[in-house]
Amino acid sequence: MQHSNFFDDAKKVLVGGVNSPVRSFSSVDGDPVFVKKGKGSRFVGENGQSYIDYVLSWGPLLFGHAHPEILSYIQSTISDGTSFGAPTLLETKLANLVISFFPSIEKIRFVNSGTEASMSAIRLARGYTGKSYIVKFEGCYHGHVSSLLVSAGSGALTHGQPDSLGVLKDEVSHTLLAEYNNSDQVEDLFRRYGDNIAGVIVEPVAGNMGVVLPKNGFLETLRTLTSKHNSCLIFDEVMTGFRAGIHGAQQVFEIKPDITILGKVIGGGLPCGAYGASKEIMSCISPEGGVYQAGTLSGNPVTMAAGIATLEKLKNEPTIFDSIEEKTKRLIDGLHTVMKKTNLPFKTHSVGTMFSLFFTDGVIENLSDVKKSQSIDFRKFYRRVLEKGVYLAPSPFEAGFMSSAHSVTDIEQTIDAIYYGVSDF
Ligand SMILES: *Cc1c(COP(=O)(O)O)cnc(C)c1O
Repeated sequence: MQHSNFFDDAKKVLVGGVNSPVRSFSSVDGDPVFVKKGKGSRFVGENGQSYIDYVLSWGPLLFGHAHPEILSYIQSTISDGTSFGAPTLLETKLANLVISFFPSIEKIRFVNSGTEASMSAIRLARGYTGKSYIVKFEGCYHGHVSSLLVSAGSGALTHGQPDSLGVLKDEVSHTLLAEYNNSDQVEDLFRRYGDNIAGVIVEPVAGNMGVVLPKNGFLETLRTLTSKHNSCLIFDEVMTGFRAGIHGAQQVFEIKPDITILGKVIGGGLPCGAYGASKEIMSCISPEGGVYQAGTLSGNPVTMAAGIATLEKLKNEPTIFDSIEEKTKRLIDGLHTVMKKTNLPFKTHSVGTMFSLFFTDGVIENLSDVKKSQSIDFRKFYRRVLEKGVYLAPSPFEAGFMSSAHSVTDIEQTIDAIYYGVSDF
């Protein structure tokens, strides 16, 4: 078998050989693993090696790969047709399920990705409030929405620079940037732009710069300021919804947002996003209101079935989420035990079923802390861990995810692999 050609062949016809940049292994060197098939906590590469997977399609697969109950519901649904562009009962069913987990949501709209959901949520916040500015935090990712692809310029933080070619200065001109966990900066923005801020969008636990937890009082400040200025607090729970806690980070930190963005787990491994809010706010969306948003394949029965099977499993097996959380703790505890045998600085952040490893002694509260936190050669570490059959995210700035399918043996093997990964530093 000639597996070394897969990436070269892919690169001839796919940009960078992939359909999403981080998959190309550009942060860790070498060729990415091409996946042949998955089952439970593992997948098998085209190279024949089996890997314990902590990427889990970047979060969605709470119950691991190819879960029989989810597959069988997808299969029975798909045999009756893939999409109609007309209402089905499955959409109402998934809507009710999501709403039962998220009391802050009274009505919901399904879309096809997290990106689409955040783009729509911002439009909704602007349509509902009649205001223009959106406050966004450095290091938080909300999909590749033009107006949110913004990073700090060299000067003051407030007005960022487009973070991608093809994004116009005009498109980010109504995006105000602040440091994650920096309440003072947000207060300052509200002092200066308060009358015209449509919303504050935030990952209530940041997961796209590694896991970074909100400091005490940070989310509270956002809630207070947005309420006071009649702007919308938008929680992007695409990652944290059904991951930070079964009812999202909003329940863990007891803050009720105005608009919630979901994705990943709610699609059960198929393309899905959603945004939801109170009836009053959602009534601004067409056809009830004047904020336009539509989708040819939105709410298609196959995706809805995968979502329903996933959320019903969570609902019917009340202890299952806790058990995945327990496994996350077991992994973290085990890592601390072996890391103590090294002299390397080491820190873990975790919430619910998501986690991050940082090789630092420092405090990590925002993107600049994260950027300063890499004391070891991540590429070398990554390659060694991969060699031992453990598939972590191929970048130091991404979260890891646990599933119900991970066994105690998997976790022990993972701890050994990570210890091997650092043993040469
Ligand atoms: C993954 C993610 C998105 C983007 O979702 P896609 O389905 O990849 O478009 C948005 N926000 C957060 C917090 C995410 O983790």
